[in-house]
Amino acid sequence: MGRDLASVLIPEEDLQAKVKELAGQIDVDYAGHELLIVGVLKGAVMVMADLARALHIPVQMDWMAVSSYGAGTKSSGVVRVLKDLDTDIEGRHVLVVEDIIDSGLTLSWLLNNLRSRNPASVEICTLLRKPDALKVPMDVRYVGFDIPNEFVIGFGLDYAERYRNLPFIGTLAPHVYGGE
Ligand code: 5GP
Ligand code: MG
Ligand code: MG
Repeated sequence: MGRDLASVLIPEEDLQAKVKELAGQIDVDYAGHELLIVGVLKGAVMVMADLARALHIPVQMDWMAVSSYGAGTKSSGVVRVLKDLDTDIEGRHVLVVEDIIDSGLTLSWLLNNLRSRNPASVEICTLLRKPDALKVPMDVRYVGFDIPNEFVIGFGLDYAERYRNLPFIGTLAPHVYGGE
């Protein structure tokens, strides 16, 4: 494991502090409302679990699983719902929780899909965002960290389904994904 990692981009303490900070903002913004937080599987599992425990307002939790069709590793924006919400979101305040916004194509599709169900509101909270990779304009209310356009792993994010359990965000050594 150790030699697969190129560097630690965001240490565990920084992640934990940032999630608490985001939770503090969400507590203030949604005071007096009941919030439905929606995690996008599987990457958002860690941030959902930590965010939910740091919130003081009443929340319900639900999950969606989506897959982006597309050649290779690039997102195409053509999305298939693998697991839909269990909750009827009509009239509800919804906060979509994401691990990372890269091109934004998947999330853009998801937002249109959720908005068509007539919720009271839909906002986004993402732990990470790659501003240089964004292909569609997107209004993101809560952003943990803006990061460089590099492939990252850990804290829910995988490479070939591995490394999701790392408690920090790291970058992979080139030999792991076929370089050198
Ligand atoms: P988008 O549609 O925004 O391009 O795709 C977002 C999804 O691609 C994320 O939810 C995540 O699953 C995956 N992704 C994008 N960038 C990275 C990255 O740097 N590392 C990992 N592990 N997954 C990423
Ligand atoms: Mg995601
Ligand atoms: Mg993945």
